[in-house]
Amino acid sequence: MTVSLWQDMAAWPGELEHERIEADVCVVGGGFVGAVLATRLVERGLTVVVVEASHVASGASGRNAGHCIAAFRDSYHRAIERRGAAARQLRAEAIGARDWVAERCAELAVPFEANGSRYLAIDETERERLIASFEALSADGQDVEWHEDDPWDRAFHGMLYQPGDLGLQPYLLTTRLMAASGARVIEHSAARELAVVAGAVEVRTRRATVRCERAILATNAYSRLLHPFFRDRVNPTRAQALATEPLGFRMFDGPTGTNDGFEYFRQLPDTRFIIGGYRDIYPDEEVGYADETTPHLQEGLQTWAAAHFPELADVRVTHRWAGIMGFTNDGLPLVGQLEELPGVYYCVGFNGGGMSMGPVAASRAVALMLDGIAPGVFDGARTN
Ligand SMILES: Cc1cc2nc3c(=O)[nH]c(=O)nc-3n(C[C@H](O)[C@H](O)[C@H](O)COP(=O)(O)OP(=O)(O)OC[C@H]3O[C@@H](n4cnc5c(N)ncnc54)[C@H](O)[C@@H]3O)c2cc1C
Repeated sequence: MTVSLWQDMAAWPGELEHERIEADVCVVGGGFVGAVLATRLVERGLTVVVVEASHVASGASGRNAGHCIAAFRDSYHRAIERRGAAARQLRAEAIGARDWVAERCAELAVPFEANGSRYLAIDETERERLIASFEALSADGQDVEWHEDDPWDRAFHGMLYQPGDLGLQPYLLTTRLMAASGARVIEHSAARELAVVAGAVEVRTRRATVRCERAILATNAYSRLLHPFFRDRVNPTRAQALATEPLGFRMFDGPTGTNDGFEYFRQLPDTRFIIGGYRDIYPDEEVGYADETTPHLQEGLQTWAAAHFPELADVRVTHRWAGIMGFTNDGLPLVGQLEELPGVYYCVGFNGGGMSMGPVAASRAVALMLDGIAPGVFDGARTN
Protein backbone atom coordinates (compact mmCIF):
# COMPACT_ATOMS: atom_id res chain seq x y z
CA MET A 1 0.00 0.00 0.00
CA THR A 2 1.37 3.42 -0.84
CA VAL A 3 0.62 6.66 1.05
CA SER A 4 0.96 10.18 -0.32
CA LEU A 5 2.64 13.00 1.54
CA TRP A 6 -0.81 14.58 2.00
CA GLN A 7 -2.27 11.43 3.57
CA ASP A 8 0.65 10.94 5.98
CA MET A 9 -0.82 12.24 9.24
CA ALA A 10 2.56 11.93 10.99
CA ALA A 11 4.03 14.48 8.57
CA TRP A 12 1.70 17.31 9.70
CA PRO A 13 2.05 17.62 13.49
CA GLY A 14 -0.60 19.86 14.95
CA GLU A 15 -2.64 19.88 11.77
CA LEU A 16 -3.72 16.24 11.58
CA GLU A 17 -4.45 14.09 14.61
CA HIS A 18 -1.66 11.54 14.97
CA GLU A 19 -1.04 9.69 18.20
CA ARG A 20 2.30 8.40 19.51
CA ILE A 21 1.84 5.25 21.57
CA GLU A 22 4.24 3.11 23.61
CA ALA A 23 3.56 -0.63 24.02
CA ASP A 24 5.46 -3.84 24.64
CA VAL A 25 4.17 -5.42 21.43
CA CYS A 26 2.35 -4.17 18.34
CA VAL A 27 0.30 -6.77 16.46
CA VAL A 28 -0.23 -5.75 12.84
CA GLY A 29 -3.49 -7.22 11.47
CA GLY A 30 -6.81 -7.73 13.22
CA GLY A 31 -7.89 -11.11 11.86
CA PHE A 32 -8.33 -14.31 13.84
CA VAL A 33 -4.57 -14.83 14.09
CA GLY A 34 -4.05 -11.24 15.27
CA ALA A 35 -6.75 -11.80 17.91
CA VAL A 36 -5.14 -15.04 19.11
CA LEU A 37 -1.72 -13.39 19.27
CA ALA A 38 -3.13 -10.42 21.21
CA THR A 39 -4.83 -12.81 23.66
CA ARG A 40 -1.68 -14.88 24.25
CA LEU A 41 0.62 -11.84 24.58
CA VAL A 42 -1.64 -10.08 27.10
CA GLU A 43 -1.83 -13.37 29.03
CA ARG A 44 1.96 -13.17 29.31
CA GLY A 45 1.63 -9.78 31.02
CA LEU A 46 2.53 -7.55 28.06
CA THR A 47 0.87 -4.35 26.88
CA VAL A 48 -0.37 -4.90 23.34
CA VAL A 49 -1.62 -2.57 20.61
CA VAL A 50 -3.28 -4.05 17.51
CA VAL A 51 -3.35 -1.97 14.33
CA GLU A 52 -5.81 -3.03 11.63
CA ALA A 53 -6.05 -1.62 8.11
CA SER A 54 -9.83 -1.91 7.96
CA HIS A 55 -11.94 -3.33 10.78
CA VAL A 56 -11.41 -6.42 12.92
CA ALA A 57 -12.31 -9.59 10.95
CA SER A 58 -12.63 -7.66 7.69
CA GLY A 59 -10.28 -10.17 5.97
CA ALA A 60 -10.49 -13.94 5.49
CA SER A 61 -11.31 -14.45 9.18
CA GLY A 62 -14.71 -12.83 8.75
CA ARG A 63 -15.41 -14.52 5.42
CA ASN A 64 -14.48 -18.18 5.76
CA ALA A 65 -16.72 -21.23 6.02
CA GLY A 66 -16.17 -21.60 9.76
CA HIS A 67 -14.78 -25.14 9.61
CA CYS A 68 -12.33 -25.74 12.45
CA ILE A 69 -10.70 -29.06 11.61
CA ALA A 70 -7.73 -30.81 13.20
CA ALA A 71 -4.89 -31.01 10.70
CA PHE A 72 -4.12 -33.70 8.14
CA ARG A 73 -7.52 -35.43 8.40
CA ASP A 74 -7.56 -36.56 4.78
CA SER A 75 -3.82 -36.96 4.08
CA TYR A 76 -2.21 -37.99 7.37
CA HIS A 77 -0.21 -40.80 5.73
CA ARG A 78 1.44 -38.26 3.41
CA ALA A 79 2.18 -35.83 6.26
CA ILE A 80 3.83 -38.65 8.25
CA GLU A 81 5.79 -39.79 5.22
CA ARG A 82 7.09 -36.27 4.63
CA ARG A 83 7.56 -34.96 8.16
CA GLY A 84 7.49 -37.95 10.55
CA ALA A 85 7.43 -36.94 14.23
CA ALA A 86 6.92 -33.27 13.33
CA ALA A 87 3.60 -34.15 11.68
CA ARG A 88 2.47 -36.11 14.74
CA GLN A 89 3.40 -33.16 16.92
CA LEU A 90 1.52 -30.73 14.67
CA ARG A 91 -1.57 -32.91 14.69
CA ALA A 92 -1.51 -33.02 18.51
CA GLU A 93 -1.16 -29.22 18.65
CA ALA A 94 -3.99 -28.79 16.12
CA ILE A 95 -6.32 -30.92 18.25
CA GLY A 96 -5.36 -28.79 21.27
CA ALA A 97 -6.01 -25.64 19.22
CA ARG A 98 -9.42 -26.89 18.08
CA ASP A 99 -10.40 -27.65 21.69
CA TRP A 100 -9.16 -24.22 22.76
CA VAL A 101 -11.32 -22.65 20.03
CA ALA A 102 -14.37 -24.63 21.24
CA GLU A 103 -13.78 -23.35 24.78
CA ARG A 104 -13.46 -19.74 23.55
CA CYS A 105 -16.70 -20.10 21.54
CA ALA A 106 -18.54 -21.35 24.61
CA GLU A 107 -17.06 -18.61 26.82
CA LEU A 108 -17.72 -15.77 24.34
CA ALA A 109 -21.22 -16.95 23.29
CA VAL A 110 -20.10 -17.53 19.69
CA PRO A 111 -22.50 -19.86 17.82
CA PHE A 112 -20.77 -23.19 17.18
CA GLU A 113 -21.46 -26.90 16.84
CA ALA A 114 -19.03 -29.65 17.81
CA ASN A 115 -20.55 -32.41 15.70
CA GLY A 116 -17.37 -33.53 13.99
CA SER A 117 -16.47 -33.17 10.32
CA ARG A 118 -17.06 -35.33 7.27
CA TYR A 119 -14.83 -35.77 4.28
CA LEU A 120 -16.51 -37.40 1.27
CA ALA A 121 -14.55 -39.16 -1.49
CA ILE A 122 -15.41 -37.63 -4.85
CA ASP A 123 -14.10 -40.67 -6.76
CA GLU A 124 -12.22 -43.95 -6.36
CA THR A 125 -8.80 -42.23 -6.31
CA GLU A 126 -9.84 -40.00 -3.46
CA ARG A 127 -11.38 -42.98 -1.71
CA GLU A 128 -8.01 -44.75 -1.75
CA ARG A 129 -6.32 -41.67 -0.30
CA LEU A 130 -8.91 -41.38 2.47
CA ILE A 131 -8.56 -45.04 3.39
CA ALA A 132 -4.77 -44.66 3.56
CA SER A 133 -5.19 -41.58 5.76
CA PHE A 134 -7.72 -43.37 7.96
CA GLU A 135 -5.37 -46.34 8.42
CA ALA A 136 -2.43 -44.10 9.32
CA LEU A 137 -4.57 -42.09 11.76
CA SER A 138 -5.97 -45.26 13.37
CA ALA A 139 -2.49 -46.76 13.69
CA ASP A 140 -1.52 -43.66 15.68
CA GLY A 141 -4.57 -44.04 17.94
CA GLN A 142 -6.41 -41.05 16.45
CA ASP A 143 -10.18 -40.85 16.81
CA VAL A 144 -11.55 -41.20 13.23
CA GLU A 145 -14.09 -43.41 11.46
CA TRP A 146 -14.19 -44.76 7.93
CA HIS A 147 -17.62 -45.36 6.36
CA GLU A 148 -17.59 -47.56 3.26
CA ASP A 149 -20.68 -45.91 1.82
CA ASP A 150 -21.88 -42.38 1.32
CA PRO A 151 -24.21 -41.96 4.33
CA TRP A 152 -26.49 -39.60 2.40
CA ASP A 153 -26.54 -41.62 -0.82
CA ARG A 154 -25.35 -38.67 -2.92
CA ALA A 155 -22.99 -40.58 -5.20
CA PHE A 156 -19.88 -40.04 -3.09
CA HIS A 157 -17.41 -42.92 -2.67
CA GLY A 158 -17.22 -43.35 1.09
CA MET A 159 -16.69 -41.01 4.02
CA LEU A 160 -14.09 -40.21 6.66
CA TYR A 161 -15.63 -38.88 9.88
CA GLN A 162 -13.57 -37.01 12.45
CA PRO A 163 -15.30 -36.44 15.80
CA GLY A 164 -14.63 -33.22 17.70
CA ASP A 165 -14.26 -30.91 14.71
CA LEU A 166 -16.24 -27.66 14.84
CA GLY A 167 -18.48 -25.52 12.70
CA LEU A 168 -18.52 -21.95 14.02
CA GLN A 169 -19.34 -18.29 13.31
CA PRO A 170 -15.86 -16.98 12.44
CA TYR A 171 -16.63 -13.25 12.38
CA LEU A 172 -18.10 -13.30 15.88
CA LEU A 173 -15.30 -15.50 17.16
CA THR A 174 -12.66 -13.07 15.87
CA THR A 175 -14.34 -9.85 16.99
CA ARG A 176 -15.26 -11.20 20.44
CA LEU A 177 -11.86 -12.76 21.01
CA MET A 178 -10.21 -9.48 20.05
CA ALA A 179 -12.54 -7.47 22.32
CA ALA A 180 -11.81 -9.82 25.24
CA SER A 181 -8.05 -9.90 24.64
CA GLY A 182 -7.18 -6.83 26.71
CA ALA A 183 -5.25 -5.28 23.80
CA ARG A 184 -5.88 -1.76 22.56
CA VAL A 185 -7.20 -1.98 18.99
CA ILE A 186 -6.78 0.79 16.43
CA GLU A 187 -8.93 0.16 13.35
CA HIS A 188 -8.84 1.83 9.92
CA SER A 189 -5.14 2.42 10.32
CA ALA A 190 -2.89 0.28 8.13
CA ALA A 191 0.74 -0.15 9.07
CA ARG A 192 2.55 1.44 6.17
CA GLU A 193 6.12 1.32 7.43
CA LEU A 194 8.15 -0.67 9.93
CA ALA A 195 11.42 0.72 11.24
CA VAL A 196 13.95 0.07 13.98
CA VAL A 197 14.86 3.36 15.65
CA ALA A 198 17.29 3.55 18.58
CA GLY A 199 16.74 -0.11 19.44
CA ALA A 200 12.92 0.03 19.38
CA VAL A 201 10.49 -0.97 16.66
CA GLU A 202 8.26 1.72 15.20
CA VAL A 203 5.05 0.74 13.43
CA ARG A 204 3.84 3.72 11.47
CA THR A 205 0.17 3.88 10.61
CA ARG A 206 -2.18 6.61 9.49
CA ARG A 207 -3.61 7.41 12.90
CA ALA A 208 -0.74 6.40 15.16
CA THR A 209 2.93 5.57 15.45
CA VAL A 210 3.40 2.66 17.85
CA ARG A 211 6.82 2.45 19.47
CA CYS A 212 7.37 -1.00 20.92
CA GLU A 213 9.96 -3.59 21.88
CA ARG A 214 8.58 -6.04 19.32
CA ALA A 215 6.05 -6.11 16.53
CA ILE A 216 4.43 -9.11 14.90
CA LEU A 217 2.80 -9.24 11.48
CA ALA A 218 -0.51 -11.12 11.36
CA THR A 219 -1.23 -9.81 7.89
CA ASN A 220 -1.56 -13.19 6.14
CA ALA A 221 -2.27 -12.72 2.39
CA TYR A 222 -1.40 -9.00 2.58
CA SER A 223 2.08 -9.52 4.02
CA ARG A 224 3.96 -8.94 0.79
CA LEU A 225 2.37 -5.49 0.49
CA LEU A 226 4.15 -4.61 3.71
CA HIS A 227 7.51 -6.31 3.20
CA PRO A 228 9.21 -7.90 0.17
CA PHE A 229 10.34 -10.93 2.21
CA PHE A 230 6.88 -12.41 1.64
CA ARG A 231 6.94 -12.10 -2.13
CA ASP A 232 6.73 -15.66 -3.55
CA ARG A 233 6.40 -16.99 0.01
CA VAL A 234 2.79 -15.99 0.78
CA ASN A 235 0.67 -15.89 -2.35
CA PRO A 236 -2.71 -14.12 -2.31
CA THR A 237 -5.32 -16.65 -3.41
CA ARG A 238 -9.03 -15.92 -3.63
CA ALA A 239 -11.80 -18.20 -2.42
CA GLN A 240 -15.49 -17.64 -3.17
CA ALA A 241 -18.51 -18.83 -1.27
CA LEU A 242 -22.31 -18.54 -1.25
CA ALA A 243 -25.11 -19.02 1.25
CA THR A 244 -28.76 -19.89 0.64
CA GLU A 245 -31.92 -18.90 2.43
CA PRO A 246 -32.99 -21.37 5.17
CA LEU A 247 -34.19 -24.63 3.59
CA GLY A 248 -36.67 -25.34 6.37
CA PHE A 249 -35.21 -28.82 7.02
CA ARG A 250 -31.80 -30.14 7.92
CA MET A 251 -30.00 -32.58 5.61
CA PHE A 252 -26.88 -32.93 7.79
CA ASP A 253 -24.77 -31.07 10.29
CA GLY A 254 -21.07 -30.33 10.64
CA PRO A 255 -18.40 -29.14 8.23
CA THR A 256 -17.98 -31.31 5.15
CA GLY A 257 -15.29 -31.39 2.45
CA THR A 258 -14.56 -33.25 -0.77
CA ASN A 259 -12.52 -33.19 -3.99
CA ASP A 260 -9.07 -32.56 -2.53
CA GLY A 261 -10.67 -29.98 -0.25
CA PHE A 262 -11.66 -27.79 -3.18
CA GLU A 263 -15.34 -27.98 -2.23
CA TYR A 264 -16.47 -27.51 1.37
CA PHE A 265 -19.93 -26.96 2.80
CA ARG A 266 -22.05 -26.80 5.93
CA GLN A 267 -25.68 -26.51 6.83
CA LEU A 268 -26.25 -24.13 9.73
CA PRO A 269 -28.63 -24.95 12.58
CA ASP A 270 -31.10 -22.47 11.02
CA THR A 271 -30.93 -24.71 7.87
CA ARG A 272 -29.08 -22.26 5.60
CA PHE A 273 -26.60 -24.00 3.29
CA ILE A 274 -23.11 -22.53 2.81
CA ILE A 275 -20.67 -23.75 0.20
CA GLY A 276 -17.25 -22.59 -0.98
CA GLY A 277 -14.97 -23.85 -3.72
CA TYR A 278 -14.58 -24.29 -7.48
CA ARG A 279 -11.23 -22.49 -7.28
CA ASP A 280 -9.58 -25.42 -9.08
CA ILE A 281 -11.72 -24.75 -12.18
CA TYR A 282 -10.43 -21.16 -12.51
CA PRO A 283 -6.89 -21.32 -11.09
CA ASP A 284 -5.60 -18.35 -13.10
CA GLU A 285 -8.45 -16.07 -12.04
CA GLU A 286 -8.50 -16.90 -8.35
CA VAL A 287 -5.25 -15.15 -7.50
CA GLY A 288 -4.57 -11.62 -6.27
CA TYR A 289 -6.47 -9.21 -4.07
CA ALA A 290 -9.73 -8.43 -5.91
CA ASP A 291 -12.62 -8.57 -3.43
CA GLU A 292 -15.24 -9.58 -5.98
CA THR A 293 -17.17 -12.67 -6.98
CA THR A 294 -17.30 -13.89 -10.58
CA PRO A 295 -20.63 -14.99 -12.12
CA HIS A 296 -19.23 -18.07 -13.87
CA LEU A 297 -17.57 -19.46 -10.74
CA GLN A 298 -20.63 -18.73 -8.62
CA GLU A 299 -22.89 -20.40 -11.15
CA GLY A 300 -20.60 -23.43 -11.35
CA LEU A 301 -20.55 -23.75 -7.57
CA GLN A 302 -24.33 -23.54 -7.36
CA THR A 303 -24.77 -26.13 -10.12
CA TRP A 304 -22.26 -28.43 -8.40
CA ALA A 305 -24.15 -28.10 -5.11
CA ALA A 306 -27.54 -28.80 -6.74
CA ALA A 307 -26.12 -31.83 -8.60
CA HIS A 308 -25.21 -33.45 -5.27
CA PHE A 309 -28.09 -31.97 -3.27
CA PRO A 310 -31.14 -31.61 -5.57
CA GLU A 311 -32.95 -30.04 -2.58
CA LEU A 312 -30.95 -26.88 -3.40
CA ALA A 313 -32.05 -26.55 -7.03
CA ASP A 314 -34.72 -23.87 -6.51
CA VAL A 315 -33.43 -22.30 -3.34
CA ARG A 316 -32.61 -18.57 -3.28
CA VAL A 317 -28.99 -17.56 -2.75
CA THR A 318 -28.88 -14.68 -0.27
CA HIS A 319 -25.12 -14.03 0.00
CA ARG A 320 -22.17 -14.36 -2.33
CA TRP A 321 -18.70 -13.33 -1.22
CA ALA A 322 -14.96 -13.65 -1.75
CA GLY A 323 -11.98 -13.66 0.60
CA ILE A 324 -8.23 -13.61 0.16
CA MET A 325 -6.17 -16.45 1.62
CA GLY A 326 -2.38 -16.52 1.99
CA PHE A 327 -0.99 -19.64 0.33
CA THR A 328 2.50 -20.91 1.11
CA ASN A 329 4.57 -23.18 -1.09
CA ASP A 330 4.43 -26.23 1.17
CA GLY A 331 1.05 -25.64 2.80
CA LEU A 332 2.40 -24.77 6.26
CA PRO A 333 2.38 -21.31 7.92
CA LEU A 334 5.49 -19.15 8.26
CA VAL A 335 6.73 -18.03 11.67
CA GLY A 336 9.94 -16.08 12.17
CA GLN A 337 11.73 -12.76 12.57
CA LEU A 338 12.64 -10.44 9.71
CA GLU A 339 16.41 -10.49 9.39
CA GLU A 340 16.92 -6.82 8.58
CA LEU A 341 14.36 -5.62 11.14
CA PRO A 342 15.31 -7.14 14.51
CA GLY A 343 12.26 -7.22 16.75
CA VAL A 344 9.80 -7.57 13.86
CA TYR A 345 8.25 -11.05 13.80
CA TYR A 346 5.62 -12.66 11.57
CA CYS A 347 2.94 -15.35 11.82
CA VAL A 348 1.36 -15.68 8.39
CA GLY A 349 0.44 -18.06 5.54
CA PHE A 350 -2.60 -20.02 6.67
CA ASN A 351 -3.67 -21.44 3.33
CA GLY A 352 -7.25 -22.76 3.70
CA GLY A 353 -6.98 -23.73 7.37
CA GLY A 354 -6.30 -20.84 9.74
CA MET A 355 -9.16 -21.59 12.11
CA SER A 356 -7.22 -24.49 13.66
CA MET A 357 -3.68 -23.87 12.36
CA GLY A 358 -3.86 -20.19 13.41
CA PRO A 359 -3.70 -20.83 17.17
CA VAL A 360 -0.98 -23.46 16.64
CA ALA A 361 1.20 -20.98 14.75
CA ALA A 362 0.37 -18.15 17.18
CA SER A 363 1.58 -20.27 20.11
CA ARG A 364 4.81 -21.05 18.30
CA ALA A 365 5.26 -17.37 17.37
CA VAL A 366 4.83 -16.27 21.00
CA ALA A 367 7.28 -18.98 22.10
CA LEU A 368 9.80 -17.66 19.57
CA MET A 369 9.31 -14.01 20.57
CA LEU A 370 9.33 -14.40 24.32
CA ASP A 371 11.18 -17.65 25.02
CA GLY A 372 13.51 -17.98 22.04
CA ILE A 373 12.03 -21.37 21.07
CA ALA A 374 12.51 -22.14 17.36
CA PRO A 375 9.24 -22.62 15.40
CA GLY A 376 10.27 -26.00 13.93
CA VAL A 377 8.60 -26.86 10.60
CA PHE A 378 6.95 -23.41 10.57
CA ASP A 379 10.37 -21.71 10.35
CA GLY A 380 9.76 -18.89 7.88
CA ALA A 381 13.33 -18.97 6.59
CA ARG A 382 12.88 -22.47 5.12
CA THR A 383 13.29 -22.79 1.37
CA ASN A 384 10.64 -24.84 -0.42
C1 LIG B 1 -14.08 -18.20 1.43
C2 LIG B 1 -13.09 -18.73 2.42
C3 LIG B 1 -13.36 -19.92 3.11
C4 LIG B 1 -12.45 -20.40 4.04
N1 LIG B 1 -12.83 -21.46 4.80
C5 LIG B 1 -12.05 -21.83 5.85
C6 LIG B 1 -12.52 -22.79 6.78
O1 LIG B 1 -13.65 -23.25 6.70
N2 LIG B 1 -11.68 -23.16 7.79
C7 LIG B 1 -10.43 -22.61 7.94
O2 LIG B 1 -9.71 -22.99 8.86
N3 LIG B 1 -10.00 -21.64 7.10
C8 LIG B 1 -10.78 -21.24 6.08
N4 LIG B 1 -10.36 -20.23 5.26
C9 LIG B 1 -9.04 -19.62 5.52
C10 LIG B 1 -9.10 -18.74 6.78
O3 LIG B 1 -10.10 -17.78 6.63
C11 LIG B 1 -7.73 -18.08 7.01
O4 LIG B 1 -6.73 -19.09 7.10
C12 LIG B 1 -7.69 -17.27 8.30
O5 LIG B 1 -8.79 -16.40 8.37
C13 LIG B 1 -6.39 -16.47 8.38
O6 LIG B 1 -6.48 -15.56 9.45
P1 LIG B 1 -5.53 -14.29 9.50
O7 LIG B 1 -5.88 -13.54 10.72
O8 LIG B 1 -4.12 -14.74 9.33
O9 LIG B 1 -5.87 -13.48 8.15
P2 LIG B 1 -6.97 -12.36 7.85
O10 LIG B 1 -8.26 -12.68 8.48
O11 LIG B 1 -6.95 -12.13 6.39
O12 LIG B 1 -6.41 -11.10 8.63
C14 LIG B 1 -5.36 -10.31 8.17
C15 LIG B 1 -5.71 -8.89 8.58
O13 LIG B 1 -4.59 -8.03 8.35
C16 LIG B 1 -5.09 -6.77 7.95
N5 LIG B 1 -4.00 -6.06 7.30
C17 LIG B 1 -3.43 -6.30 6.11
N6 LIG B 1 -2.44 -5.44 5.87
C18 LIG B 1 -2.36 -4.63 6.96
C19 LIG B 1 -1.53 -3.54 7.30
N7 LIG B 1 -0.58 -3.10 6.49
N8 LIG B 1 -1.74 -2.93 8.51
C20 LIG B 1 -2.70 -3.36 9.35
N9 LIG B 1 -3.52 -4.39 9.04
C21 LIG B 1 -3.35 -5.04 7.87
C22 LIG B 1 -6.24 -7.12 7.03
O14 LIG B 1 -7.13 -6.02 6.89
C23 LIG B 1 -6.86 -8.30 7.76
O15 LIG B 1 -7.90 -7.92 8.63
C24 LIG B 1 -11.21 -19.73 4.28
C25 LIG B 1 -10.94 -18.55 3.59
C26 LIG B 1 -11.86 -18.04 2.67
C27 LIG B 1 -11.55 -16.76 1.98
